[in-house]
Amino acid sequence: MNISVVGTGYVGLVTGVSLSEIGHHVTCLDIDKEKVAKLLRGESPIYEPGIEEMMRQNIENGHLHFTSDYKEACEKVEALYIAVGTPEKEDGTADLRFVEAVVQSVASNIKAPLTVITKSTVPVGTNDKIQALFYEQAEVPVHVVSNPEFLREGSAIHDTFYGDRIIIGADNEEAGDVVALINKAFGIPIFRTDCRSAEMIKYASNAFLATKISYINEISNLCEFTNANVEDVAKGMGMDKRIGANFLNAGIGYGGSCFPKDTSALLRQAENQGMAFPLMNSIITTNAMQQLKLIDKAEARFGSLKDKKVAVLGLAFKPNTDDMRAAPSIPVTERLVLDGATVNVYDPIAMDAAKNVLPKAITYTNTMKECIENAEIIFILTEWKDIVADLLPLIKENGKRVALFDGRNCYGYQELKDVDMEYYSIGRPGLT
Ligand code: NAD
Repeated sequence: MNISVVGTGYVGLVTGVSLSEIGHHVTCLDIDKEKVAKLLRGESPIYEPGIEEMMRQNIENGHLHFTSDYKEACEKVEALYIAVGTPEKEDGTADLRFVEAVVQSVASNIKAPLTVITKSTVPVGTNDKIQALFYEQAEVPVHVVSNPEFLREGSAIHDTFYGDRIIIGADNEEAGDVVALINKAFGIPIFRTDCRSAEMIKYASNAFLATKISYINEISNLCEFTNANVEDVAKGMGMDKRIGANFLNAGIGYGGSCFPKDTSALLRQAENQGMAFPLMNSIITTNAMQQLKLIDKAEARFGSLKDKKVAVLGLAFKPNTDDMRAAPSIPVTERLVLDGATVNVYDPIAMDAAKNVLPKAITYTNTMKECIENAEIIFILTEWKDIVADLLPLIKENGKRVALFDGRNCYGYQELKDVDMEYYSIGRPGLT
């Protein structure tokens, strides 16, 4: 099928590349001309394992094209994906500016009937509004289908080919059939429903995962008071199939481009209906408090952090991505700078992206060794494999006694026993 994908960010690019891999002819469009120029050279503007190889192969075999010209993307197109950002507005609602701009550009360029597929996460009722906008603005029939995305950054290609389900929300059955046909070759279970339920499935799923994280984090805090070990608690809980073992890792909370904005947007959707949603409020508040947990612990240990030399390891919101959106490293470094600490930071991949969002008064180091060289305090914020593997040998080699505050519970007793340092983690009082 001839497919266009609008937006070449984490979702759009992965969608476009994957659809070309299963044999569709795909044109990816972005208004960011620099991004498109990079893509045309076969370079991925995002860090995502496996994407560049698959992208290059499909450019070479003629299945995948890039453009910033709507006319080109709308020519001969049978289905068009909307995969632009829906960031959080200051009031917590989803900003639909980019989605609306896409609708306008597409409506004024299409010449033949089209199925429009919304991948962007949008509040319940948005696809009805998109449908109405096309009805007003386009000269040809357009049917809008909700097809929310569930990929995880860092394993996005894998998730696209081996996801748990594909949700298709369509009020027009034939348009829903088109989306089912496009996705057939992935061989993933498809669940079909109406547009509004599909939109809600996306928010309800993300908010549920955020709930699990905030819940286990609250339990981890209680473990610290009661001398229980949250890792064992989570393991014991997770063996119950009704609970499940995933998303029960205690730590310094969730971040990223989805959970923070989607929980806020869901809360605002409830409030806009006049409905209180105290559970969602608590999940968000718990997470904000949890992100500063290591600071609380360091302050409890040292009193003030003024003039302390602090090394922060891991800046991206999770390993295997360069995404810095709503990363816990933002509030943590802001607080450290505010408290007067001297801050070195290091991340294997996200350094460039970090420079746009972290406070100015910090030092970016080229290696982890350089980052921790003079540190009195080390924070682990993101559990990159290399950071976890190399840190303890480096601390030993450095020979300087440090206090390590581990926000991701990276080490167990065996690894720690012959390293001379102070160690603090989350919800494991026996180890600190
Ligand atoms: P992103 O910010 O990485 O990418 C969005 C892209 O859209 C950018 O490249 C931008 O230049 C482009 N764009 C903006 N306006 C445009 C326009 N008018 N025409 C053409 N291109 C335009 O965003 P993302 O992380 O890929 O997220 C996209 C959507 O998918 C969001 O709604 C998000 O909530 C949802 N989502 C994201 C993830 C994730 O892990 N990132 C997972 C599931 C769902």
